[in-house]
Amino acid sequence: MAFRSIHHLTRLSACLVATALALWAQPSEATKRLQERNKMFEPAVIQVAENVYTAIGYQVSANSMIVGDDGVIIVDPGQMPSAAREVRAAFEEISSLPVRAIVYTHGHGDHTNGAPAFFEPGKGIEVWARDNYGSEQALVRSKGLGPGLRASNSQGFDLPLEQRMGIGIAIPPDRRPQGNMMQDGLRRPGAPAASPRPAQVRPTHKFSEQRKSLEIAGVRLELVAAPGETQDQLYVWLPDQRVVFAGDNFYQSWPNVYPLRGTARRSLRDWIASIDKMVQQDPLHVVGGHTTPMLNDAKTVLANYRDAMQWVLDRTLDGLSKQMTPDELVEYARLPERFAELDYLGDYYGTVEGTIRDLYAQDLGWFDGDALSLHRESPRKQSERLADLAGGVDALVAKARELMDSDDPLGAAQLLRHAIRLRPEDSAAKLMMADALAIVGERTFNGPVRNYTLSTSNRYRKQAQEQQ
Ligand SMILES: [Zn+2]
Repeated sequence: MAFRSIHHLTRLSACLVATALALWAQPSEATKRLQERNKMFEPAVIQVAENVYTAIGYQVSANSMIVGDDGVIIVDPGQMPSAAREVRAAFEEISSLPVRAIVYTHGHGDHTNGAPAFFEPGKGIEVWARDNYGSEQALVRSKGLGPGLRASNSQGFDLPLEQRMGIGIAIPPDRRPQGNMMQDGLRRPGAPAASPRPAQVRPTHKFSEQRKSLEIAGVRLELVAAPGETQDQLYVWLPDQRVVFAGDNFYQSWPNVYPLRGTARRSLRDWIASIDKMVQQDPLHVVGGHTTPMLNDAKTVLANYRDAMQWVLDRTLDGLSKQMTPDELVEYARLPERFAELDYLGDYYGTVEGTIRDLYAQDLGWFDGDALSLHRESPRKQSERLADLAGGVDALVAKARELMDSDDPLGAAQLLRHAIRLRPEDSAAKLMMADALAIVGERTFNGPVRNYTLSTSNRYRKQAQEQQ
């Protein structure tokens, strides 16, 4: 996971917040599920093995300490020096030995920017990463793609506190320390000025091998190349304790193979191969990049994770050979019950649907195989045809109202999209759209999809209010 936008509180009108609160008064099953899940992120230091500890809930990412004979090793110091200092204080209650090394599982700022809390220049602290460290950011930069609405909308940064439930795999935004989330110096146009970028701690040691064996502070550890969520990903393997630190290749959610911000290209095939490597190590415990560690049954958990992804890959390829379109594949490659019932494969952060669609897009590009997709009409033309069939724009809006009254907000939104396209000055239609999307979003438990839907709802409401 990466947060590319700064913590940004959108100022919304009192009316909007009141509406949101009214909708929140009767929480949906999805909201209750997320509220329950968020208990996972109460700050705690969890003992994983005799000399291994993981801090959860202090920062958006999980931060770990391995205690050696004469020093400690930190895996992923987290996203902010201030919060990372709290983690350090909690770790020092367990061991006062000096920090000897820091390992970055990958280059995302939510795993690395906290390093100044643990790193002191001149003390010989080794900072380890792979030699392609920062590959995803470099790729995004080379394409000229910066952070934007897609990122901040899906992460929930643009929502008022009342609407924030988090993104499913991290401490919710309303409980995070104040200040610039990532302090990465990036901001969207119009957002408040970011505080200065903190000193970055660059890796002092990089490796290009598939596997690097080290002994630090008397601890035997292996750093293993593991492309997946990012190309620069690695996992840390402790052979003596049988602990694997999976980085963001594992967290308790369906993997985020396709991030909604759209700036990353992730390989499902690489991801599967990297999880398989971890399974072959015969691990007992797995520490993921965000959620709480899975203790004692890591091998089974990771094997299920791998097999579920492989199942989606195989099923999608099978559907491709049958000339299915992405929409058809989404139906065809649904997870079978044996995987769907596992909570750690739930669509909290990534989605199975997004994975299937992205696999299609990466393998075959935009053309879905339907001849009519080669003869597309403009969005306006499509809306005109629908309105004509319905008996005009008023009829579309009336039907949308009927659907709202019969508790079909998604159906209403589908029709309102066309009505608003044909009559953008219709503030009543926009308000109804805002209500429809607010309900659809509140009934969604996937964090990014929920946040994106609610942010869009708020935008419609704001537009309608400005037009009235
Ligand atoms: Zn992450």
